[in-house]
Amino acid sequence: MNIVIVGHVDHGKSTLVGRLLADTGTISDVHVKKVQATCRRQGKRFEYAFLLDALEAEQEQGITIDAARVFFRSERRDYIIIDAPGHVEFLKNMVTGAARAESAVLLIDANEGVRENSRRHGYLLSMLGIRQIVVAVNKMDLVSYDRTTFLAIVEQYKAFLHELGVQTQHFVPISAREGDLIAKRSDAMAWYDGPTILEAIDGFTKRPPPIGQPLRMPVQDVYKFNVRGDDHRIIVGRVESGVLEVGDRVVFSPSNKSSIVRSIEAFVGDAPQRASAGQSTGVTMVEEIYVERGEIMSHVKDAPGVSTMLRANLFWLGRRPMELGRRYKLKLGTAETDVRIHAIQRVLDASALETRDKNNIERHDVAEVVLRTRTPIAFDPSHHIETTGRFVIVDGYDIAGGGIVRELVADDQQQERLETRIRDLDWVRGELTPGQRSDLIGHPATLVMITGNVGVGKHALARKLEVLLVRSNHHAYLLDGKNVVLGVDADIQLDDRAELVRRFGEVAHILLDAGLVVVSTVNVIGLGDHRTIATRITPFGMFVVHLGTAAAGLPEGADIRLNEKCDPVEGAEAIMVELAKRKRLRTGMRA
Ligand code: GDP
Repeated sequence: MNIVIVGHVDHGKSTLVGRLLADTGTISDVHVKKVQATCRRQGKRFEYAFLLDALEAEQEQGITIDAARVFFRSERRDYIIIDAPGHVEFLKNMVTGAARAESAVLLIDANEGVRENSRRHGYLLSMLGIRQIVVAVNKMDLVSYDRTTFLAIVEQYKAFLHELGVQTQHFVPISAREGDLIAKRSDAMAWYDGPTILEAIDGFTKRPPPIGQPLRMPVQDVYKFNVRGDDHRIIVGRVESGVLEVGDRVVFSPSNKSSIVRSIEAFVGDAPQRASAGQSTGVTMVEEIYVERGEIMSHVKDAPGVSTMLRANLFWLGRRPMELGRRYKLKLGTAETDVRIHAIQRVLDASALETRDKNNIERHDVAEVVLRTRTPIAFDPSHHIETTGRFVIVDGYDIAGGGIVRELVADDQQQERLETRIRDLDWVRGELTPGQRSDLIGHPATLVMITGNVGVGKHALARKLEVLLVRSNHHAYLLDGKNVVLGVDADIQLDDRAELVRRFGEVAHILLDAGLVVVSTVNVIGLGDHRTIATRITPFGMFVVHLGTAAAGLPEGADIRLNEKCDPVEGAEAIMVELAKRKRLRTGMRA
């Protein structure tokens, strides 16, 4: 069982761990005596925490496994203490789930009482859904093993946990240093008749992997391999919940690509028929499809939500406060995308549960926020599925916060997304899949959309780009919005903007499905709605070229900016360079 030991600094975490190692016989008596003798020789007081250092020293000789993890064994089972105390990365790892604890021991110093971190850590445990918690009131020897002191702390901390909605199973008075009520009962605290620490954690239940939940497999990577001239792809990832079987129809979110599982690959031995929660695996599909790292594979009937907006509880660790308007990176599952705070709804000081000003989120604050991602991502509310409902926020290069998804917030594309999902699931294909088609043609299908104000030269640029593309052996086509209006839209009013955009998007989608690089501009339908187009043309990608002044910068959603009225040939060449960099051109064309 994975267990985490938390508490305010100096409240005795390392001492408790040392004790657990010694009292369970994980570290032999001989070894303990050796460390004690060394201390005597050096004239310093023996600390149980030194046993941890001793472990690390052993680790240098390659004996134990991982300095951040300590193992011990009770009569009932093996434990892994994740994030052994003293590691500064502790809060970060808790938040990121890098260390996934199932249970926790939270230490409070009997002499000092409840401190900020006692509360902060309690909050984190509750936010992260760790429900099996023992609160250990340590250093009882310093308060003469006094029952009243113990009960006062219990009462105070229970009230705090109650506010968080956490029911704690056990409060245990201990002395980590003296070994009272860790593995053995204590004469000094005969008034206490509850379990020892070890009994309490032995009583916790190991949570089974979430097999009964809907299937979620975030795509980690896609390996391409070649069998007799045929390209195949293995999509690899870890099944986080549910069960996957050969023959299942699956869908990838947010791209909506769908196929049937042909095989589940094994790293050794025969290929299995199924893979379930907790297993890392690779799958091949009946129809080859292009999916990317970051998507989530699920069954069609219970796919995750997709949006650019989500309501979340967030815990901030960054030195620099989290601010409205600033851009961060959000990592959820294997997906990574730019994100901003759309709204701060509540900010709390996690140690006091007091509401703060809502202007920014400071270090160690907890906040309720609405986040807005640059591109749509797939996720679940964390109370529904834990692993696809947790995320991390990166500021620059640092993990600066993390949190859980409370719910999906509908953005303005929700309806389109639903329609395209239905369309894509029933889409009838010829014998070639889009993947095979683009392999044969030699480049992927992409929509290059040129945006910018009236009169900046969008159309001239689009024309030149089409020529350049076709000349360099690309299947490319200039789709002028006017032509869609003339024909496809002949039966509707030109002020029915939503329908014009929908139809334009569907026409572009068919051309992309035919394998083309489609070049277009926002000229005719004034596609301020180009995000709607991007949704309509999923699973194909859109590359947005913005014509504007340097002073105005790169608008949200644009991939590159070119100067207004730039020379069309030079502009088109610059676009080709960018497309090549992003592997959207025929391979062999260099940037
Ligand atoms: P951490 O920072 O939470 O890992 O705390 P440590 O385990 O390093 O303990 C901090 C100090 O408290 C050390 O000097 C320990 O010897 C002392 N300490 C830990 N547990 C006890 C205890 O049960 N009784 C007494 N008197 N001191 C303790």
